[in-house]
Amino acid sequence: MTGSAGRIAAVALLATLLAGCAHAPAAGRDVPLTLDTHVDIPSDYMRAPRFDVGGDSALQVDLGKMERGGLDAAFFVIYVGQGPLTPAGYADAVAQAERKYSAIESMLQRYPDRIRAATTPQQVRDNHARGVLSALIGIENGYSLGHDLARLDAAYARGARYLGLVHVGNNDLCSSSMPDTEHGEPAMGSPDDAGMSDFGRAAVARANALGMLVDVSHASDACVRDALAASQAPIIASHSSARALVEHPRNLPDALLRAIAAKGGVIQAVAYKEFLKHDPGRAAAEKALQAQVARQAGDAEYDSDRHDGLPAMAAGMARIQQQYPLATLDDYLDHIAHMVQVAGIDHVGIASDFDGGGGITGWMDASQTRNVTAGLRARGFGEADIDKLWSGNLLRVWQAAIDAAARGPGDAP
Ligand SMILES: [Zn+2]
Repeated sequence: MTGSAGRIAAVALLATLLAGCAHAPAAGRDVPLTLDTHVDIPSDYMRAPRFDVGGDSALQVDLGKMERGGLDAAFFVIYVGQGPLTPAGYADAVAQAERKYSAIESMLQRYPDRIRAATTPQQVRDNHARGVLSALIGIENGYSLGHDLARLDAAYARGARYLGLVHVGNNDLCSSSMPDTEHGEPAMGSPDDAGMSDFGRAAVARANALGMLVDVSHASDACVRDALAASQAPIIASHSSARALVEHPRNLPDALLRAIAAKGGVIQAVAYKEFLKHDPGRAAAEKALQAQVARQAGDAEYDSDRHDGLPAMAAGMARIQQQYPLATLDDYLDHIAHMVQVAGIDHVGIASDFDGGGGITGWMDASQTRNVTAGLRARGFGEADIDKLWSGNLLRVWQAAIDAAARGPGDAP
């Protein structure tokens, strides 16, 4: 482009930039502070070049995608899969968690001009006002504490601000919404579903004392009720949608949505396909593809870190998408609307589960985050409500947990 066309383009670009400034966070109310409460990281995060968030990465969430899509803050998750409740199992879980904490630290050290840690709600707002992204940390599966509460304090010291009690399969804190029934764990809701253990209650008490949020996503219904009873502070579900719309154990029934809201907490609706749209054909086809790709790679079992990047996986997923289309942003907005109706506008938030299986048509990675905001507007949510959904509710609940810790035990509202 040369001559006057170039000058016109430059003027147009300048006008766009100036218009953009008028909508900058400090100046306008029509750009919400966007906070995603659940983003996974692979075990080679910041170690393998394709998982370096500063460049053009293979991840759904990297710094460029957050900047382009207007995603301001994310809880990066220290996830550890459930293993044996033995000293060796605990040691392995602690080591896996350590690898992820150090990876997040190396992201913060490598890109200090683009993303900073946030360990208080105020720091999230300060980072936003300065125009840098916020990195927050959440724990997914209390198994990584290795049955030692001192590790919860250590996790807090490293920046972790929510404790996800359990994952798939029961652990030493809580029963899971998806127990390992193939290996004899009782089904959720059965008479033997144990809910929360004494160690789980001790972990909740310690999280309360630290001002760390208790997260019941993945917990059994019994464990959610026990957490509500045990916690001195409001609790969160960092990534769960509505069971009334899709009968999946990872979604929460209306009664628990109401109970979490009644205690002042927040449920972060999650953009995870299987929780938004009942599609057993797709689930079966994906499982078959995963097994096939793993076999072709010479592995006994599918491993998302190892196999998702392979061309055979991409080709297979494209075929599956033709036959069984993925859940859409509209499906997701249905869940948000239902949850707001049941729990109230002050008790619902937003989570992607990106890089952990999340991603739907319309919000496939962080670069498409503005679609969510536009979708909420199209559904008739006003700007103040969109602020609450995107971060206001979560930050308020987090502050309440900090305030409850400052008051000390036995003084719950
Ligand atoms: Zn999860």
